[in-house]
Amino acid sequence: MQKTAITAMLSGFLLMPATSVQADDPTVSILRVGSQPSVPADAKYFTGVARVDSRFQRSEPAKISGGLVTFEPGARTAWHSHPLGQTLIVTSGVGWVQSWGGAVQEFREGDVVWIPPEVKHWHGATATTGMSHFAVSESLNGKSVVWMDKVSDEQYLAK
Ligand code: MN
Repeated sequence: MQKTAITAMLSGFLLMPATSVQADDPTVSILRVGSQPSVPADAKYFTGVARVDSRFQRSEPAKISGGLVTFEPGARTAWHSHPLGQTLIVTSGVGWVQSWGGAVQEFREGDVVWIPPEVKHWHGATATTGMSHFAVSESLNGKSVVWMDKVSDEQYLAK
């Protein structure tokens, strides 16, 4: 490219109005990454090493909440259910999910998993690969999850 063409492009760029960027917008809020510490997943309800990041919980009448959950290999939730179901948006790695009486199913980055209301299930990493998913659910009467027994190694490795 000719030097004059580059100079013309640069001056065109510099002449663009700066009004498209607002320093502050009182309407829309952005939760900055790193503004909330990572929280270890509660050992009462998880097996292995897992952590929760960037959680949000909207206020009534909205009922939606969500968080990024990261599982090391072998880590999984306990058996549990969600009164209004749960959507898992898989953001990295490979994981397993199982409903009570169903087969262990494998999922990977980019997949979206839907667990219907009241279905007893667990989810987590595979035995050899870590996994993270963004978990979204809605609360009913202030509750979005009902925890049950831990997933035994026999149940976890049944696949
Ligand atoms: Mn779940």
